[in-house]
Amino acid sequence: DNFKIVNDTYGHDAGDELLVSIADRLVKFTRPGDIVGRLGGDEFVVLSEYVDSDETVIKIAQRINEVMRKPFNSSNRIVYISASIGMAIGHGSTHSAEDLLRNSDAAMYMAKEHGRDGWYLFSSQIYENLVQKISITNGLKTAIELNEFHLVYQPVVATNSKIIKGAESLLRWNRAEGPVSPAYFIPLAELSGDIVSIGRWVFREACKTIARIQGEFQSNTPYTSINVSTRQLNEDGIVAEFKAILKETGAKPENIVIEITETSLMTDVHKNILVLNELADLGMRIAVDDFGTGYSSLLQLLKMPLSIIKIDREFIDGLDKKPQSRAITSAVTKMASVMDKKTIAEGVENEAQLFELQAQGCDMIQGFYFYRPMAVDEYIELLQNQKVSDTNDKPKVYTVIYVSRASESLTHNNIQEILEVARKRNAELCITGFLIFNNGYFMQFLEGRKEFIDTLLEKIVNDRRHDNVRIILSTFNKKRLFTDWTMGYWNMRDAGSEIDFSTWQKQTFNLLEISNDAKLCYAFFEAISSKKLS
Ligand code: C2E
Ligand code: CA
Ligand code: CA
Repeated sequence: DNFKIVNDTYGHDAGDELLVSIADRLVKFTRPGDIVGRLGGDEFVVLSEYVDSDETVIKIAQRINEVMRKPFNSSNRIVYISASIGMAIGHGSTHSAEDLLRNSDAAMYMAKEHGRDGWYLFSSQIYENLVQKISITNGLKTAIELNEFHLVYQPVVATNSKIIKGAESLLRWNRAEGPVSPAYFIPLAELSGDIVSIGRWVFREACKTIARIQGEFQSNTPYTSINVSTRQLNEDGIVAEFKAILKETGAKPENIVIEITETSLMTDVHKNILVLNELADLGMRIAVDDFGTGYSSLLQLLKMPLSIIKIDREFIDGLDKKPQSRAITSAVTKMASVMDKKTIAEGVENEAQLFELQAQGCDMIQGFYFYRPMAVDEYIELLQNQKVSDTNDKPKVYTVIYVSRASESLTHNNIQEILEVARKRNAELCITGFLIFNNGYFMQFLEGRKEFIDTLLEKIVNDRRHDNVRIILSTFNKKRLFTDWTMGYWNMRDAGSEIDFSTWQKQTFNLLEISNDAKLCYAFFEAISSKKLS
């Protein structure tokens, strides 16, 4: 595995030396009588005869994996590598040498696909995968000619108004044998290089649709996004080609968004920046797809001409389940708004997810909760029937501020205990906020879904530790004020601990007194939320 890196980093002499050491180890750790050979490059073959069961070869493979992990000494450097091993068992009367080599090769690819440094034994399942892959790869070469491709469109809506802002074009392949998922065939088309001609077909087809929509909606044309893979970006002349297609179809670049996955953006940052800048100069917008899965450097991201960030489905899926996912979506949304970029949440499937995204201020939504990908005619009909109105949905985050008197004299530890329980429960119920304690009084800011907040308030009113609960403010808000998924806490006594106020203290700051002015209370929390005191 990764032999190329050794070659590229330390030079070919070091690489050759390493190959010799690997061969030595292979000879030493296979069985006496086994044959070890080098097929070429970084591929070795072990031929074992008289194998009575799978166990025998599996043991050999495990041993080889183990000894390959041990450090190698090459040109006085310590080098670490690993091996991906594929195995096939056969009898001379039924299997040719080619059969065994091809089958073990297929098994080796399984080992590589599953994270390297491991082994796979060839099986009928691997065989079927292999045959399937070959059939798909071959089929892709003639799919355009045979008219087997078409595009579907999945609408993207504005989070608050639910108005359709655009749609993503998604490729569909219906071959005689049945439909094949793009998640399966796109990676194969990337491997074989056919993605270049397929991508060109997709771009032209989407542009034709865009021209059609423009004809009907003029300056109100929603955008259409087109997925482009890095293999396409690396093709010389892609910009000229896109330009020619724009001219040919009449699609306007301002109605086009190019989607590129975060992972592929990061593969060749310098080259990608150049091409993306050219595309952006034409007037198209660029979206980073599957954001959050690609470990991109923020600095490099800032250098790219990106307009839209599409938050990966994985995080949306966790929104109503995992506080970590909420922390990530909220951080991405905030970062995007600071960087003046729009966010789209992908794969929204239920109300709870939508609610959280609304509360966090995410701009747009794409997902089965609103629309599934649909045929082009259906999409255009949907656009025609969409009432053009700007009436935004009622903002949905319910916000409450209350003041109560702490009935017992609570110690620091008591309060921490209360907070611990509250934080856990609130994270489950998607409630955020802030608690202030001062001179025996609580003032708390709570926000979330109304039904959850109401239940919580009822609990607080009945809680022996709170006396005279007085609700100062209860209202719907557009966005959350506090987006951190833990209840912030501030004991006012600690707040002033750095500065000595004792000489100034003519009048004590009193939560009960400021509770007479709801606006002041709100402004107070707003200040805390922007300062992020906790
Ligand atoms: P993608 O770019 O992330 O596209 C979004 C995928 O998520 C689509 O799957 C869409 O149907 C699916 N999706 C949308 N909303 C939901 C939801 O609420 N729940 C669930 N479970 N799924 C949802 P699809 O169409 O199967 O496409 C899969 C992938 O294939 C795409 O992922 C994209 O990477 C690739 N692909 C599709 N069309 C093209 C194309 O024309 N060119 C290139 N290069 N890649 C394409
Ligand atoms: Ca996409
Ligand atoms: Ca995506």
